[in-house]
Amino acid sequence: MPPLSFLRMKFDIFTLFPGMFSGPFAESIIKRAMDAGLVEIAVHNIRDYTTDKHHITDDYAYGGGGGMVMKPDPIFAAVEGVLGADAIASTPIILMSPGGRRFTSAIARELAQLPRVALVCGHYEGVDERVREHLCTDALSIGDYVLTGGELPAMVITDAVSRWIPSVLPEFAPRNESFSEENEGLLEYPHYTRPADFRGWKVPEVLLNGNHAQINKWRKEQAAARTQHILGANDAQGSTDPA
Ligand code: SAH
Repeated sequence: MPPLSFLRMKFDIFTLFPGMFSGPFAESIIKRAMDAGLVEIAVHNIRDYTTDKHHITDDYAYGGGGGMVMKPDPIFAAVEGVLGADAIASTPIILMSPGGRRFTSAIARELAQLPRVALVCGHYEGVDERVREHLCTDALSIGDYVLTGGELPAMVITDAVSRWIPSVLPEFAPRNESFSEENEGLLEYPHYTRPADFRGWKVPEVLLNGNHAQINKWRKEQAAARTQHILGANDAQGSTDPA
């Protein structure tokens, strides 16, 4: 960690369930990044921005259909109140949504260049569409499945973005991981550590001989083969990703 650390990125997360965030950010790399002052994660309870006596945050859907819809007014009040007039014009405000753009390593890296980002978590049947249209600047999905809320997606995005912030990982940490530009978008090669022989399963000989040209060649081949195998199988399963 640098001796004089300074905040590089702030995440403002808007949710009805702030308690869900206490675990994932309280340990390991993200906790260290927060302790070092590199990353700040502020979790805001949308319910605190209701103005009615019962603190209502959701209501029945116009037009019928089951399920409750999150009301726009407390979400607008929360985001506008926290960001203020200046930051609201310059900060991406991203709705967690299965209908959003598919979150990727490239998007994580782009977001990591910014000083601040706001993430809005839906719950129940979803969020009043006016939040997407008139408050949020973007919507992201973490995959083609439906979760009970946007809290896990917000944690996933915060984690993946934080890894790209300078000094969050040790400076020597590789940048050629799966999906990165440095790795030409491929998956990473397989890793091995000691013991060299575990239950008769041996570490590939090439990794033990100290010949770095050979090792690099082997790793490239493995990465290419693995990518073709895994991503090919995923495609064959029929991705609905329109991209
Ligand atoms: N009725 C909606 C799903 C609502 S799920 C639909 O059919 O599309 C409730 C909330 O969980 C959403 O508003 C969103 O914030 C979050 N969510 C669920 N799945 C998600 C995903 N794959 N990516 C990002 N957010 C998701």
